[in-house]
Amino acid sequence: MTNQAKQPCLKVIPLGGLHEIGKNTCVFEYGDDIMLVDAGLAFPSDGMHGVNVVMPDTSYLRENQKRIRGMIVTHGHEDHIGGIAHHLKNFNIPVIHGPRLALAMLTGKMEEAGVMDRTILQTVAPRDVVKVGQHFSVEFIRNTHSMADSFSLAITTPVGTVIFTGDFKFDHTPVDGETFDMARLAHYGEQGVLCLFSDSTNSEVPGFCPPERSVFPCLDRHISQAEGRVIITTFASSIHRVAMILELALKNGRKVGLLGRSMLNVIAKARELGYMRAPDDLFVPIKQIRDLPDRETLLLMTGSQGEPLAALSRISRGEHPQVQVKTSDTIIFSASPIPGNTISVVNTIDRLMMLGAKVVYGKGEGIHVSGHGFQEDQKLMLALTKPKFFVPVHGEHRMLVCHSKTAQSMGVPGENILIIDNGDVVELTADSIGKGEPVKAGIELLDASRNGIVDARVLKERQQLAEDGVITMLAVISTDGVMAAPPRVNLRGVVTTADARKLSLWAEREITWVLENRWQQLSRNSGGKAPDVDWMGVQREIEIGLQRRLRRELQVEPLIICLVQPAPGGTPAYKGRADAEPDTRPAPRGGRHGGGRDDRRDRPERADRAPRVVEARAEQQPRRELAAVGAAAPASAAAAPAAKAEEPEVEGRTRRRRSAAAG
Ligand SMILES: [Zn+2]
Ligand SMILES: [Zn+2]
Repeated sequence: MTNQAKQPCLKVIPLGGLHEIGKNTCVFEYGDDIMLVDAGLAFPSDGMHGVNVVMPDTSYLRENQKRIRGMIVTHGHEDHIGGIAHHLKNFNIPVIHGPRLALAMLTGKMEEAGVMDRTILQTVAPRDVVKVGQHFSVEFIRNTHSMADSFSLAITTPVGTVIFTGDFKFDHTPVDGETFDMARLAHYGEQGVLCLFSDSTNSEVPGFCPPERSVFPCLDRHISQAEGRVIITTFASSIHRVAMILELALKNGRKVGLLGRSMLNVIAKARELGYMRAPDDLFVPIKQIRDLPDRETLLLMTGSQGEPLAALSRISRGEHPQVQVKTSDTIIFSASPIPGNTISVVNTIDRLMMLGAKVVYGKGEGIHVSGHGFQEDQKLMLALTKPKFFVPVHGEHRMLVCHSKTAQSMGVPGENILIIDNGDVVELTADSIGKGEPVKAGIELLDASRNGIVDARVLKERQQLAEDGVITMLAVISTDGVMAAPPRVNLRGVVTTADARKLSLWAEREITWVLENRWQQLSRNSGGKAPDVDWMGVQREIEIGLQRRLRRELQVEPLIICLVQPAPGGTPAYKGRADAEPDTRPAPRGGRHGGGRDDRRDRPERADRAPRVVEARAEQQPRRELAAVGAAAPASAAAAPAAKAEEPEVEGRTRRRRSAAAG
């Protein structure tokens, strides 16, 4: 075993794309060389408030950037190229090899991000072979997918050849006539393939995936029968679909108006490069298209996923400046919702129907086919490449499991198959496959600017705000440790049966408890006139206490923000409420020395979530608070490890949310 470990092996490390659909990012590593294959993004799931895009954690690549020799791009979908412009700001990628169309789309993103000078883009043609570093040589094998100009890869390494399918289906009558280069796959299969990494998206679906062309007659029927305008939405990046829609518009004597930035961009790029052939006069600017008769109009737009800001979503809400729904409209959804988007899509459909339009959507209409192969496509891939080892990729967990069963039914032994997660390290030698020590993998959330990172703690706070609201509390405490005024408590978005009086009474009790049991640790007599008070610590203790009480008494967990207003020493104490009912809480037994073990046991939950709340807030608005409390100590170092430990938990939570949404 140790011998084997010393033997150089090929490492394949996916940093995204597993147990999810999205942000496909894969690392190939041999000796001193690192080669990347694709770098995509994913879209946020419910609960990721204010998050625009989701990126994989690339700490591993940042740490090892000196060894990165280059990147290979398989095709131009966002889940494969959407992360590149962002990564180029953070680490070095000397060269990117990829298909013409994908790199044209990437150029737009890189220009926008101002990183055009950070790398070299090299376009490839089918069967081109490129060398990356000392150890990798990659052949681009034409495949078929919903996106034009897409490739599978044959990666030759010192331990053997790896076939990396990229996204694929076997479409024998592709819209652009570019057929799957199956001969090349078979060639490698004959020579011997060490390992196959294959697209698992539709591994649960039996049969062959229908060809893209099969939607043509169904779309044709709906368009030719439409009495008024035709409005169609699909993914802008589904180049073949868009090309067919343009062809149908021409055939049916309708002019085309385009709505949505990505639709305009992608069509411009694809026409420029010759992936779509449509005469210039087919297109009419949206402002002028209203002058044409409805029966001669086709509007092609974004919004097939119910994205709130996309054209069709805005139209459905009556918020679009140029287009309003008419009862004579036929609106066609030529796409199926990505898991997680289903609710927004059906809501959009409902709104459009309520406005009186005829809406065509759903599986039975034959207006959409997947770009990813079904079980029989996957079997054909296995049959052609005859791999020794097999790793299903690009899919959620159940899809990976299902794909591995298909491989076993094709004769790949179970022990030669690995189901892995993001960050796992696949170690391959000429005759073995295994898992190494995993590397750091997780998510990085970007806000609308795509520059600001929404870290896990910020996200947690937003979730807390959204779910349970916020309580702010002002406490006036003198430097010699007495409560100098009644606390003021404010609620926003908190549903509670407790009245304001009770809440301020509880706040009072927590303050009193902290002053009685924690003051000694939190204030130090440094020899000067006034003691040195850790006001941040005081706030934190009060927040923790109130949080715990609210959880116990009301079963709510609002975000709690305590501000302490220091008063000069000698300020008379506020005595608290004489008329208050007795405290129901078990009396805290901190003892004179406080902070002992017993004391911790008395507040067992203190470490479980509250420190994060405090620490995160301290980071975000330190100026104001420090000003308010004078020379308060910075966020204590002790809180930092706790916050660090939180990150995986939050990540786990978001992942759970996503899979719940997918299910
Ligand atoms: Zn794709
Ligand atoms: Zn994909």
